[in-house]
Amino acid sequence: MSNRIFLSSPTMHGDEQKFITEAFETNWIAPLGPNVDGFEREIAEYVGIRHAAALVSGTSALHLAVKLAGVKRGNVVFCSDLTFSATVNPVSYEGGVQVFIDSERDTWNMDPKALEKAFEKYPDCKCVIVVNLYGVPAKLDEIRSICDAHGATLIEDAAESLSATYEGKQTGTFGKYGIFSFNGNKIITTSGGGMLVSDDEAGIKKARFWSTQSRDPAPWYQHSEIGYNYRMSNIVAGIGRGQLLHIEEHRNLKEKIYRRYEEGLKSLPLKMNPYLEYSKPNFWLSCILIDRGVNVTPEQIRLKLEDANIEARPIWKPMHMQPIYRTNPFVTVEGNGRGRTNAYIKGSGIDVGADIFRRGLCLPSDNKMTEEQQDRIIEIIHRCFL
Ligand SMILES: *Cc1c(COP(=O)(O)O)cnc(C)c1O
Repeated sequence: MSNRIFLSSPTMHGDEQKFITEAFETNWIAPLGPNVDGFEREIAEYVGIRHAAALVSGTSALHLAVKLAGVKRGNVVFCSDLTFSATVNPVSYEGGVQVFIDSERDTWNMDPKALEKAFEKYPDCKCVIVVNLYGVPAKLDEIRSICDAHGATLIEDAAESLSATYEGKQTGTFGKYGIFSFNGNKIITTSGGGMLVSDDEAGIKKARFWSTQSRDPAPWYQHSEIGYNYRMSNIVAGIGRGQLLHIEEHRNLKEKIYRRYEEGLKSLPLKMNPYLEYSKPNFWLSCILIDRGVNVTPEQIRLKLEDANIEARPIWKPMHMQPIYRTNPFVTVEGNGRGRTNAYIKGSGIDVGADIFRRGLCLPSDNKMTEEQQDRIIEIIHRCFL
């Protein structure tokens, strides 16, 4: 495994160790302490938001965001369709019902037109979860205005997009609540961890309360609400503080990887994953989309890379195609909803999510990959098209 090229693996610097050592020396080995407070302050400052709560994962941050948005049993929540299941599972934790919204082709994220359609069909929806896939900002302004017009709370799943900006503003700050993930393969990592951010001070306080078992202010253990053990530990937060010092460096390395693929693959019948010119992705993963009608599949490329001990990954399988969510409604303006009796349909082609899933591939985007290694990957891909 030692010479394997990974999709995206942790890049550590040594600064992390200093914060951990300090935690050991002061015996702050707990889900609270100066690193937790410091990491919250530093993330909030970095993205330009007032408040942050450090949690055990991006998923737990999403769960608490869904609770703060007031989602209750039976409530409809509009969710990005092309994403990791962690974006949408927390809706089920609260008994809500996901309605999946198809992607557009400019960013692969939630299609504002499909979102509008969804509000026509479900005017009572009060919560929307949008993802910035692979670090590419969605059409956040449009999506936010649509949510505002319908009085719906926007939750921004920026798990993959920390350090990406939309019109100069950091992703994660467009919704009422935003979340980041520090899982091992994200742009910065704490081994595992997440952050909930918001300008809503009361909301973040409430999230901290829920995340530490909902203990009422009483001398004994008293609970008036269901609690969770979701708080980030002081050790883990120390890793995060050390990583955050290097986030711009990580982003620049990721962009360099994307540009090298873009240049190296430009003669082939494929496109890189697209983004809006007024947004600045963090290029967490470089992806390709093979042109229509070309006789090469992403899976053929993935297996050829695997033969060379190189890790590539299929595009996230859309939520509306997942066995667990097969009966949830799906709103698309391009798709024909083939095989789905409950798709709300306008167009007559394949839906965008399924199309990207079928023709797309995530390429190795590891910060530590050398230019020579990347050139080898580019060459293997070229050979697939001979
Ligand atoms: C990683 C990820 C999450 C979940 O974050 P964890 O920290 O792994 O719980 C949520 N949404 C997206 C889009 C992700 O990529």
